[in-house]
Amino acid sequence: MQPEHLHYAERQAPRYTSYPTAPHFNTGVDADTVARWLAELPATSRLSLYLHVPYCQSLCWYCGCNTYAARRDEPVLDYVDTVLKEIELAASKLTARQVVEIHWGGGTPNILSEQQFETITQRLARRFDIAANAQHAIELDPRFITRDKADAYVRAGVNRASLGVQDLNARVQQAIGRVQPLEIVEAAVATLRAAGLNQISMDLMYGLPHQTTDDLSNTIRLAAAMAPNRIALFGYAHVPWFKKRQRLIPEAALPGASERFDQAEAARIELQRLGYVAIGLDHFALPEDEFALARDQGRLRRSFQGYVVQDADALVGFGPSAISTLPQGYAQNAPEPGAWGQMIAQGQLAIVRGHKLDDADRIRRRLIEQIMCDFSADLAPLGGAEACASELETLAPMFADGMVQLEGDRILLSEKARPFCRLTAMAFDAYAASGAARHSRAV
Ligand code: SF4
Repeated sequence: MQPEHLHYAERQAPRYTSYPTAPHFNTGVDADTVARWLAELPATSRLSLYLHVPYCQSLCWYCGCNTYAARRDEPVLDYVDTVLKEIELAASKLTARQVVEIHWGGGTPNILSEQQFETITQRLARRFDIAANAQHAIELDPRFITRDKADAYVRAGVNRASLGVQDLNARVQQAIGRVQPLEIVEAAVATLRAAGLNQISMDLMYGLPHQTTDDLSNTIRLAAAMAPNRIALFGYAHVPWFKKRQRLIPEAALPGASERFDQAEAARIELQRLGYVAIGLDHFALPEDEFALARDQGRLRRSFQGYVVQDADALVGFGPSAISTLPQGYAQNAPEPGAWGQMIAQGQLAIVRGHKLDDADRIRRRLIEQIMCDFSADLAPLGGAEACASELETLAPMFADGMVQLEGDRILLSEKARPFCRLTAMAFDAYAASGAARHSRAV
């Protein structure tokens, strides 16, 4: 990386999977608010459902997700009981029934037995009309995939599996507390494909402890040899003040900002050499994949799942910490399974905070989304370039470095600015200045 650009990589910025970002949510949004918001949704609304499974067999040290280790069966049994009640509760508030997307995240959704998974999907099918061509995706831990589970996913209509891979070098795997040799990932992919689940995504990471650029290139070649349709390449976010388990990762073993940048760049070049198309900040897809088509047609969107080809009018979240995105605003469930379960047991939605969107939020949200997805944005809805003088002033160094430019009321990011698009987006974040949040590095 050019030394004069190092200061961009050292800055911190949100990932903008929502606007405002979750640290700026407030307790003014509660269960009653969201019951009203759900009831107000038109019956014709197309729904996306997100199910957060908050348990894993064991906890990986690098993980920033809201998840708990389940060493006994009871927590998972309780989860299934409670999520069924939560589905009933939400469905009773909604007149909308049409579901066009389902996404299982976590945690480890494949901690559920096939029977538990089917109990939940059958309840969803009973309470909602799930479109025959619905996008149905599940995040899976390759270490715990069986043929019976893969068959259950296919029977339920799952058509995309996302595998957590991170890095395939033993030294790095040991340093992040997740040992998962290549053979395990290859076997998981083969099992899913044999069951008929052919849309495979893989999550990889750079910026991990002891990881070198060569390690990352090796991981990318091994991953690409399994021909996933999509690869997501995330920078490890070291936030030990927020995720205590990350204290197990020795800070001295982490690559610095310049090395992280070089890793991300080398990975991007290698993935493109292997035939993948770059999508947004951190995704890559085979040219015939829906993501690549959506990028070319300007249909990429940003959501809590990262980049998506959004087809829904509202996203309803289930499970601890799940966030719903409704036309009126965001609403987050209690993060801790006990508190979530208690609220549901009392017959109320488990909402503890959120954000009611106003028109100014919606304009800035769309602008930030355009920067994150398309690397350009129209400033006209904010009143045009003149009205955005203070935001553009914040970006003066990026203008001076040729990273961004204006064409009329449109702001454009150059190729070299793309890794820093979070910083460009942050200039238009009206909440960022409040300093309520600490974020991960911009690269
Ligand atoms: S990385 Fe995945 S398996 Fe590991 S703790 Fe996080 S959610 Fe669980």
